[in-house]
Amino acid sequence: MLDIKKIREDFPILKREVNGKPLVYLDNAATSQTPQQVIDVIVDYYQNYNANIHRGVHALSQEATDKYEQARIKIQKHFNAANSHEILFTSGTTHSINLVANGFSSLIENGDEILVSAMEHHSNIVPWQMLCERTGAVLKVIPMNQEGELLMDVYDELLSEKTKLVFCNHISNALGTINPIKEIIDRAHGVGAAVLIDGAQAAPHIVADVQALDVDFYTISAHKVCGPTGVGMLYGKEEWLKRLPPYQGGGEMIAEVTFEKTTYADLPHKFEAGTPNICGGIAFGAALDYMNSIGFDEIAKYEHELLQYATQELLKIDRLKIYGTAKNKTSVISFNIDGIHPYDIGTILDKLGIAVRTGHHCAQPIMDFYKIPGTVRASFSFYNTKGEIDTLVSGVERARKMLL
Ligand code: PLP
Repeated sequence: MLDIKKIREDFPILKREVNGKPLVYLDNAATSQTPQQVIDVIVDYYQNYNANIHRGVHALSQEATDKYEQARIKIQKHFNAANSHEILFTSGTTHSINLVANGFSSLIENGDEILVSAMEHHSNIVPWQMLCERTGAVLKVIPMNQEGELLMDVYDELLSEKTKLVFCNHISNALGTINPIKEIIDRAHGVGAAVLIDGAQAAPHIVADVQALDVDFYTISAHKVCGPTGVGMLYGKEEWLKRLPPYQGGGEMIAEVTFEKTTYADLPHKFEAGTPNICGGIAFGAALDYMNSIGFDEIAKYEHELLQYATQELLKIDRLKIYGTAKNKTSVISFNIDGIHPYDIGTILDKLGIAVRTGHHCAQPIMDFYKIPGTVRASFSFYNTKGEIDTLVSGVERARKMLL
């Protein structure tokens, strides 16, 4: 059993008020809050050993380099990657996906096919469309049903010798669906296609074992797992990272530079041009430590309880409809009240101190599928409480009465 009261003490922001009301933070799928343990690591870096890494002989630089590389190893262990050089620090999921999409420009040919699921975040759609524009490859969509589950039989039909890449999120940010990624990966490998799994939404709830999954690329953003913004990771199988060309050129990613020819550094540095987000990387490692100290099994169990309770209570509200009712889903609830724009509900909730997200959640194709402009999305973390869900439900009910 998690001691939620104690856990909440770790998050200073949860004590603040918004519009004169205690903050009820239910926008965790957009970004998670940061515990004091991670804030302390950030402060310690700037107070005690702020220096550039990998290139200094002085003590501060070495200390910062050690801590940064230790963070890489923490991330490697967390995801059970075979090698620490298969973990690349990036600025986040968007950067990671663009890195892979850019790398595949030289490996994809006119007429090749790329499959992407119908429930992707724009950051897992647009880079592939750009890749298709550059190469003449064709983007095909794995459709979903009304519940927000992928149609795996159609996926099988779409897979062919022409399929070179498959992209799918582990968990949908707009619907909360947990996708059957092991099957997706295995079936793609059956036709020789590589697979990138966008784990941005899964990382706060599930620990992915990249070796057991046999996934080619897996990516997350630190700010979804109690870490800072502007840093994330891309796991890539060594064989793929060796084949892909560098994404950006600059300092750190080279072995030797002359005006005639440059050779590139070994992994992971080949993909890490320029001064990275050093403090962010170290804090990312600390954030995973923090979450592991709470325990992902306990987190998943508790969040599932919150999901069930919130679903049951929200559905008591007249004319409220939930989008995304997959059997296997995480603690994200997207909903609308018939006749009310989601933005109006979000605005009233904000006045009550309740932070939810409204709009298309960077997943416009999902909104088009349901023929709606957007939804209100409440997403729960392990530091939320049933009491906060009650506050949300009464806020939504109040909005309904005011707006209808
Ligand atoms: N993919 C999914 C499923 C997401 O939920 C998000 C962020 O919300 C992203 C990608 C993009 O992450 P970032 O903005 O950290 O690059």
